[in-house]
Amino acid sequence: MELGRRCIVNTCERSVKALGYCSAHYERFKKGSGLKPDKPIRKSADSITDEQLQDAAKRTKSWRGLLNYLEFSTMSGARKAIQNRVKKLGVDISHFPVQNPRVKCLIEGCTELNHSKGYCSRHYGFLKRNGDPLKTIVTGKKRYDSSGYIRLVVMVTMS
Ligand SMILES: [Zn+2]
Ligand SMILES: [Zn+2]
Repeated sequence: MELGRRCIVNTCERSVKALGYCSAHYERFKKGSGLKPDKPIRKSADSITDEQLQDAAKRTKSWRGLLNYLEFSTMSGARKAIQNRVKKLGVDISHFPVQNPRVKCLIEGCTELNHSKGYCSRHYGFLKRNGDPLKTIVTGKKRYDSSGYIRLVVMVTMS
């Protein structure tokens, strides 16, 4: 059966693309640079087609998921290249968690930039401390607001 056939390079687990080689080893074979079976396969972002990108973005929920889906290491330099391709193609990734630091905080009227989970560091701090990004109560700490006034410090007991 052709389906699921493995690359003829001993150490390789990838499925066959051509001449018994997986796509990466086939590339190496074509280039004539030697198969280098021990050299880990570095996929290049160029080996992914536009359709594969669109499809992967639809099926996954994050950049990490997308990279995993396409069998890229999240540590690899391909990450940037993939992200650029996705942006260039205009692939819909609105369902991905926000990672672009230039995106503004989710809280209406807040002009700070996204720090984590879509909130600026201040609102994210409230979310973490109080379970609500709008619950701006700071317990046990004096806080000065932007005009230099000490903000009322209220001790609350969360039940
Ligand atoms: Zn291979
Ligand atoms: Zn904010």
